[in-house]
Amino acid sequence: MKVFKFGGASVKDAAGVRNLAEIVRAQGQNAVVVVSAMGKTTNALEDVVRAYVNQQTADLQSRVQAVRTYHQTIMEELTGDFTLVEQTFDHLDNYLKQPPSAPFDEVYDQIVSLGEILSTQIVAAYLTQTGVPTRWVDARQLIRTDSTFREGQVDWSETSQRIAKAVTPDAVTITQGFIGQTADGRTTTLGREGSDYTAAIFAHCSDAESVTIWKDVPGVLNADPKWFDETVLLQKLTYQDAIELAYYGATVIHPKTIKPLQNKGIPLYVRSFIQPEAQGTAIGNYEQHLTTPSFIFKVNQMLISLHPYDFSFIAEDNLSRIFGRFAQAGVKINLMQNTAISFSVVVDDNPDRVPTLLEQLKKDFRVSYNAGLELITIRYYNQSTIDRVLVNKNLLLEQKSRYTVQLVVRDLG
Ligand code: ASP
Ligand code: MG
Repeated sequence: MKVFKFGGASVKDAAGVRNLAEIVRAQGQNAVVVVSAMGKTTNALEDVVRAYVNQQTADLQSRVQAVRTYHQTIMEELTGDFTLVEQTFDHLDNYLKQPPSAPFDEVYDQIVSLGEILSTQIVAAYLTQTGVPTRWVDARQLIRTDSTFREGQVDWSETSQRIAKAVTPDAVTITQGFIGQTADGRTTTLGREGSDYTAAIFAHCSDAESVTIWKDVPGVLNADPKWFDETVLLQKLTYQDAIELAYYGATVIHPKTIKPLQNKGIPLYVRSFIQPEAQGTAIGNYEQHLTTPSFIFKVNQMLISLHPYDFSFIAEDNLSRIFGRFAQAGVKINLMQNTAISFSVVVDDNPDRVPTLLEQLKKDFRVSYNAGLELITIRYYNQSTIDRVLVNKNLLLEQKSRYTVQLVVRDLG
């Protein structure tokens, strides 16, 4: 059995849904098809959550209406029995009529998860109508998580049992990416862009033969075409290279996707839904690692340097205090470096989290920081690749390991 994953961009309009159906018909008979919310629906539903929690009634109404109209426009261009979609909108209306009572992250998951419910209801109705035997499966009934809302941690043993029972190769299974459920029946989500991870969970738990992520790019490229004119398609990648690239911020695959597949030796293909006959990238147990250098750019980075007031060394005591503060603030460290009495880190400059973190850190350390920076990671670097990315940049910090260099720079522009 194969697992296919289609992201939001692949189903952003009626043509996208038709294209998905073509691909499934040609290559995915009996596949498990994991689908994300259509287009930018997740962002739109995040706005609904904010308007609801702040009880901005007029704003809330217009935002819900926008989500509804968007889906209706798509359905109008397709054929199928879409009654379940209407029921989902009714459910949303009823939920929003009650005043918010649960904590923000829990409310978020109850509302935002509906994007994937809507998209899969539309896709399943359309596929059925075109004559493909289709089974719509509710991922909330299969993926069991703890109650860490917005970042649900999977209960693998419960999830494996449920998936093994539910997935049978007599029809195309259509299910939602990104969502799960706690033991007491509250919906959770697995973290933004988490649908790739869902595909990996389904594959792992049903011992699938492969996973294919269908994207609007030809496969995994050695750089984001947004930043680079000449990109190269990486035809084969080891699991290790894939996980390293995803970890450093290559957005083509969600970083959590690789481990469940590597653990069972299930290959992952990244292919183009625009050119479904093209090969794309294959990720698996290959002997040889990459030879092409890969470039990953992250903007809006902040370099924070900490100096203990009392000149104590940056050793176990100080480090555990520092990591504790970062974990508590929910700020992830993209790079770190220390000297005897200073510790520097680079983080995403998240305005909801970083200012509070800085306040906390100032209790124990003299803190200095630089905002508006870029973090460039090159895997399989050489001097000429470094020189190339440093054109017109001021280098603030550099860190090299055998295969990877990270450069913290300011754009001189
Ligand atoms: N719809 C969710 C998001 O946009 C999950 C996904 O697309 O993978 O974050
Ligand atoms: Mg999405």
